[in-house]
Amino acid sequence: MAQKSLTKYEVLSTKYGLFSDAKKYIAGGVNSPIRSFKAVGGDPLFIKRGRGSKIYDESGREFIDYCLSWGALILGHSHPDVVEALKEALGRGTSFGAPTLQETELAKLIQEALPSIDSARLTNSGTEAVMGAVRAARGFTKKNKIIRFADSYHGSADCFLGTSAGVPEDFKKHTLSVPYNDSAAVSGIAKKDRDVAAIIVEPVEGNAGVVLPKEGFLKKLREISDKYGIVLIFDEVITGFRVSYGGAQGLFGVKTDLTCLGKIIGGGLPMGAFGGRRDIMKHLAPEGSVYQAGTFSGNPISVRAGITALKILKETDPYKTLEEKTKTLCDGIIKVARRRDVDLRINRIASLFDISFKDTGLFKIFFHSLLGSGVYLSPSPLESNFMSTAHTDEDIAKTIKAAEKALGR
Ligand SMILES: *Cc1c(COP(=O)(O)O)cnc(C)c1O
Repeated sequence: MAQKSLTKYEVLSTKYGLFSDAKKYIAGGVNSPIRSFKAVGGDPLFIKRGRGSKIYDESGREFIDYCLSWGALILGHSHPDVVEALKEALGRGTSFGAPTLQETELAKLIQEALPSIDSARLTNSGTEAVMGAVRAARGFTKKNKIIRFADSYHGSADCFLGTSAGVPEDFKKHTLSVPYNDSAAVSGIAKKDRDVAAIIVEPVEGNAGVVLPKEGFLKKLREISDKYGIVLIFDEVITGFRVSYGGAQGLFGVKTDLTCLGKIIGGGLPMGAFGGRRDIMKHLAPEGSVYQAGTFSGNPISVRAGITALKILKETDPYKTLEEKTKTLCDGIIKVARRRDVDLRINRIASLFDISFKDTGLFKIFFHSLLGSGVYLSPSPLESNFMSTAHTDEDIAKTIKAAEKALGR
């Protein structure tokens, strides 16, 4: 693949000027930085609508979507059952700031899928879920520090943004960062420093490409946590209901103390949740003294979408098929890359995959070439791509063809 100037799509999107207009009114033109295409260059797509495996931008172009709102849409866009449930829920009111029966129903579905969760709390985002879990762990252990893994992502709360400006050093010093899959480093810290409240881990890293846990790594974290009275937190915001209905903890058979969820559990609407051992969760207000709250937490709209999505997943059990589709796609891309003699690598598990090149500069070109052929990948080589139940064999064949064309350049 040779370096080249703007693709047809880039020229078009620049011509429409949607991004420059957005920049006048929205900081950086986006409401979350990764959307800006900074990692791949060019202007971001402005999406008008989505249906099934496809999204459509403001200029009317159709794209097969492998970003799927960063994995949230495991059933694809506008799943008819979810839309129907939402219509009904909307007619009953959008928020009460008071308990509803449906919140219990969703929490029960979560508990059945992830038995480590004795009790949960619903939040509005994954970030809020992680914040709540960390605070609960600190309140429970009466300790301050957290061990996290360097390339993992846990949302945008202060304690996980070691490199961001605007976070006081006094906050940063409580977060200790070690390389993923390095249980010896965790053990070394835990042995020396008795102020560690929690270890937080993505059981499969999904925000630094797709990185699988080494054999025994998660079990080792369990052992270290038990030995030193540390709360083990699995951040399953991506992996929950994605790598299996029981999440990564179900897949790898490791019991965690607390779990953070998000993305899929909202059925495409904003939602997060955290939960786990009752003796830890009971420290939350109103029972205990760890404060955690939200005006829209457990709002009936997100909850209704979440219940509908989880019930579909439970009843249809699409995980084997999702994995097979992902394998077909990834094997197809690898095959055409070999044929073209391009050093392209893919890591994958279940319906989660990344694409990287030995020559890291190639991703941008590959991304834009695919865009030109009607395929939308997550706009960064460090982010995961996802398969939905709505993706067809035809979508997959078309994507492999688009990859072959891109790699031929
Ligand atoms: C997306 C993500 C979060 C943050 O969730 P938001 O809903 O974006 O706040 C946290 N942890 C992981 C592993 C994620 O992938």
